[in-house]
Amino acid sequence: MYDPYISRALSRNQPDVASYWQSITPPGKHFDALQTDISCDVLVIGGGYTGLNCAYELANTHQRNVVLVDALQPGWGCSGRNGGFVLRGTGRLGLSQLVTKFGLDTARLFHQEYGEAIARVNQLIVAGNIDCQQQPVGYYKIAHKAGMAADLARQATFLQQQFGYQAQYLDTRQLQQQVVRHRQAHAALSFPDCYGLNPLALAHGYARMASEAGATLYGQTPVNRLKRRNGVFEVATPEGIITAKKLVLATNAYTAKGLYPALNNSCLPVLSSVIVTEPLNSTQLQQLNWQQNSIMMDTRTLKYYYRLLPDNRILFGGRGAITGKAAANPIYAQRLLAALKRCFGGLEQLTYQYQWSGWVGVSFDDLPRVCSPEPDLFYAAGYCGSGLSYSTLAGKRLAQLVAGQPLPALPIYQSTLPRFPMSAFRRQGQQLYYHWGRFKDHFL
Ligand SMILES: Cc1cc2nc3c(=O)[nH]c(=O)nc-3n(C[C@H](O)[C@H](O)[C@H](O)COP(=O)(O)OP(=O)(O)OC[C@H]3O[C@@H](n4cnc5c(N)ncnc54)[C@H](O)[C@@H]3O)c2cc1C
Repeated sequence: MYDPYISRALSRNQPDVASYWQSITPPGKHFDALQTDISCDVLVIGGGYTGLNCAYELANTHQRNVVLVDALQPGWGCSGRNGGFVLRGTGRLGLSQLVTKFGLDTARLFHQEYGEAIARVNQLIVAGNIDCQQQPVGYYKIAHKAGMAADLARQATFLQQQFGYQAQYLDTRQLQQQVVRHRQAHAALSFPDCYGLNPLALAHGYARMASEAGATLYGQTPVNRLKRRNGVFEVATPEGIITAKKLVLATNAYTAKGLYPALNNSCLPVLSSVIVTEPLNSTQLQQLNWQQNSIMMDTRTLKYYYRLLPDNRILFGGRGAITGKAAANPIYAQRLLAALKRCFGGLEQLTYQYQWSGWVGVSFDDLPRVCSPEPDLFYAAGYCGSGLSYSTLAGKRLAQLVAGQPLPALPIYQSTLPRFPMSAFRRQGQQLYYHWGRFKDHFL
């Protein structure tokens, strides 16, 4: 599997993602490769939610002549292969940590921004008439051990009192009766505006909207090299050179070493892995009593996330291998299946039918950035595995930055991603973090 930590470039000869989403989603519009030299006002590299939303906004709201290229097809990266959890937030810092770091007023601004991200996803789905199988709202953070229950109860009070956000605490009995019969859940915190959808259908919808708004999209067009000449960017692709006044990097965790090293060194690509089971039969479903296809994530350091899909399969995700080379090793899917069976009873015979993984971009300080590291060059990256809703808004923020408009007064819009200290040893650090996480989740 392509590994941005070691590869100098992303080629267009990548295998298809054999995901559940690929199997159930009608093909999106196919975008041909660029085959000649062209010029534009703004070039967006990367056709995930970030790039597609940036291109859409630039064409639709700012009337820019914008071109977007993806090395494969739009949605090939994380955006077409994620869990489909529309969550409130990004990065890895909760609101209480944001209060400690930046103060209550700034944390409230973050909370507002996160709410706007979900609202934007919802608005675009309506505006673009995107059929992405939105499920009813219902997201539960699950206390994986008894000691976390009091913590969730405190979080509920904190969110209600400081942010006016109606998160609700559920004790074990309420959770078992109202949400799902779960063997490892000691309490839960419910978030009233989060839900699950089909992420690939969403990516296809965003691509169509960007194209219809006037952006020109090319697939199978990897950028191999960028340089500045005479005040403009000259960007080399296999069959054409693109000359652009401004450049947006929306390549996130898929940024190869050789494309823009400053971004590659500030964004650790980490594999998130997913299995999707065969459909549950009626006895299994009855036993689980999983309500409303709600989505869940636990309080572990090395988290598991899961949802019941509309066709009664369970999607179960968590940490994957460390390197691209090891990504396809079945041991990771088997571990996920074993963890699933520890959570839910009566599924001893259940097997998985789909397994895949993708690279999420983790930043050194657990926060993303939307920024301009040098004149006329922009990027948004580092969502730390929680980027479905936020990347949709980040694309709009990028477009505003390109157009010279002010952004909300948030720290993530005021600096670039910090470089990892000793960035050549990021993977060794990740390995140590996984050991520590496993120890903490079991014993502390
Ligand atoms: C398994 C998995 C599960 C996840 N589940 C969730 C979830 O449930 N909820 C949630 O909020 N987040 C989730 N995430 C994270 C979320 O999917 C991402 O944060 C989000 O999709 C990032 O979007 P993006 O546009 O920034 O990047 P991407 O979607 O990764 O897009 C980057 C694009 O850049 C292109 N590219 C890279 N280099 C080049 C180049 N040189 N030339 C041309 N194109 C290039 C790639 O082909 C790719 O299409 C998950 C991620 C994974 C992997």
